[in-house]
Amino acid sequence: MGEDAAPRAHSGRSFFGYTRSDLSPIVDPAYRATQLFEAVYRQGIHDFERITNLPKALRADLKARLDVGLPDVHRSFDAEDGVRRRLIRLSDGELAETVYIPDGGRTTICVSTQVGCALACGFCLTGQLGLTRHLTAAEIVAQAVLVRHLDIANPERKDGFNIVLMGMGEPLHNYDNVMRALAILHDPAGLNMSMSRITLSTVGLLPELERLAGEHLIPNVAVSLTGATDEKRNRWMPINRAYPIADLVAALGRLPVRPRKKIMLEYVLIRGETDTMDDARALGRIAASLDTKVNLIPLNESPDLALERPDRETILRFQAAVREHGVPTFIRKSRGDDISAACGQLKKTWADGKPEIDLQALGVGGS
Ligand code: SAH
Repeated sequence: MGEDAAPRAHSGRSFFGYTRSDLSPIVDPAYRATQLFEAVYRQGIHDFERITNLPKALRADLKARLDVGLPDVHRSFDAEDGVRRRLIRLSDGELAETVYIPDGGRTTICVSTQVGCALACGFCLTGQLGLTRHLTAAEIVAQAVLVRHLDIANPERKDGFNIVLMGMGEPLHNYDNVMRALAILHDPAGLNMSMSRITLSTVGLLPELERLAGEHLIPNVAVSLTGATDEKRNRWMPINRAYPIADLVAALGRLPVRPRKKIMLEYVLIRGETDTMDDARALGRIAASLDTKVNLIPLNESPDLALERPDRETILRFQAAVREHGVPTFIRKSRGDDISAACGQLKKTWADGKPEIDLQALGVGGS
């Protein structure tokens, strides 16, 4: 059952933070843990008492030790395009944002990995909050379980969703909890998510990208570039001062083949700032050198950002210029923007002023 059989303290009482092997001290023999996973993750039973194929004594023991209930929804917002954004209440009263995104036959669940974020990107509302805390693995997994339970009513659709780690927070800043969550989501007795159905979006923290390259489970990787020269990227994404573009590109090139083949560069188009033809050419060169796709995200505007999205013609011209480098280039559809559910709009409260990035607190030194 693997070597890390002891339940981790940080999993607390929530069942959703436990891998099957973590359960072995409590649930014996091992096939009982498999039955338990199947009941909770596949059949959606969120009450140990009702898992009737488990012995009564085991059910009572589980109930005394663990909590398998779904988290409470603090508020829910419905957008006209079917997108639903939820604020999920965590055990300490903090809120995590989760977004359900139906798209024709495809469903995507966008989950948060932190409350707030420490990266302070100049165009992102979450970045204005600063970091409150990391989410536990259980809190990350529970978001997907909750949305699957509440929104994916059709049993035939229940397996056909994707997960994007693109909500609040920087997933690689919360590395251990995110990797643990991926392992739990991946378990074939549970949600059985293949890594090709999960996309981790990151600003590109280099030590963690190196660590990721050596993992057994590697999801698709999306890298937020927004700034195709160091000068511009330093301005919009302060993490670039610690990890400049050339180093980032080199680290991405070291990912193993499958995840590397599927890397996506995300680039926010800000009028007059990141939308010039020079920017497009620089972006095209970077993407071509890595053989990646590009996802252009026209800025989602907000009264809290003194920035604008470029007009349609500029966006199309920019896309054409990137494509000239032979790079598949897409414009991301804005979803749920009427309820502030779109990229970069997740922000539960108002913070006063704008936090500076604290590179030292992130453990990266920097200038
Ligand atoms: N920290 C991770 C994941 C969260 S952000 C990351 O940075 O990748 C998810 C995506 O939304 C990122 O690509 C980010 O650049 C983009 N984004 C942030 N603010 C935005 C805004 N105001 N408009 C459009 N996209 C934005």
